[in-house]
Amino acid sequence: MSVQTSCYASDALPGETVDVVVIGGGAAGLNGALILARSRRTVVVIDSGTVTARRVLVATGLRDVPPDVPGLAEHWGHGVVHCPYCHGWEVRDEPIGILATGPPSIHHALLFRQLTDDLVYFTHGTDLDENTRARFAVGDIRVIDTPVREVMTSEDGGIAGVRLTDGTVVARRILAVAPA
Ligand SMILES: Cc1cc2nc3c(=O)[nH]c(=O)nc-3n(C[C@H](O)[C@H](O)[C@H](O)COP(=O)(O)OP(=O)(O)OC[C@H]3O[C@@H](n4cnc5c(N)ncnc54)[C@H](O)[C@@H]3O)c2cc1C
Repeated sequence: MSVQTSCYASDALPGETVDVVVIGGGAAGLNGALILARSRRTVVVIDSGTVTARRVLVATGLRDVPPDVPGLAEHWGHGVVHCPYCHGWEVRDEPIGILATGPPSIHHALLFRQLTDDLVYFTHGTDLDENTRARFAVGDIRVIDTPVREVMTSEDGGIAGVRLTDGTVVARRILAVAPA
């Protein structure tokens, strides 16, 4: 059984119909192709071009859409992180802010609280019930309800903090955001 990838070194495409075409050669697409090949299916992984196949596995990924806060997008993947498992160790003990986007941000806060003692939760217009506020208080997670106006960049190119709509500046080095 063969797995053919077209990422950097394309194999010759088969003339005959293959069992499955995988569209997208990222983590999901390559793993799907591997599993299919191990199940004795003929597979082609493509990023471009046209192949005739009996089945198509679409693994083209998704697009993260962070909240529309000025200054935030340019820090995406650096000072603005979304995954405590991907980035948590690297941002441990930093002053971290959770920029809430909805209920998943509550879980986010509890995960990031394991990584730092200095955590601020910016509700940013989202609901936060009294039970959760009490739980945050017990965990020493500070809550700020004034909306965030902008993310401020430091001289070293990282995040210096956030400016709220009332003009207050809250110093932060890291913002954790659950994107849409
Ligand atoms: C900043 C950041 C840091 C991360 N860090 C980690 C980490 O440390 N550990 C971890 O496990 N995960 C991490 N992740 C998550 C990880 O990147 C994703 O979970 C993973 O890439 C998803 O794999 P995927 O194959 O579904 O999609 P993708 O990786 O997005 O792959 C999709 C592929 O499809 C291709 N494609 C798109 N459209 C078409 C089309 N029309 N035709 C053909 N091909 C197409 C693309 O070129 C791409 O190669 C991170 C994500 C981000 C944003």
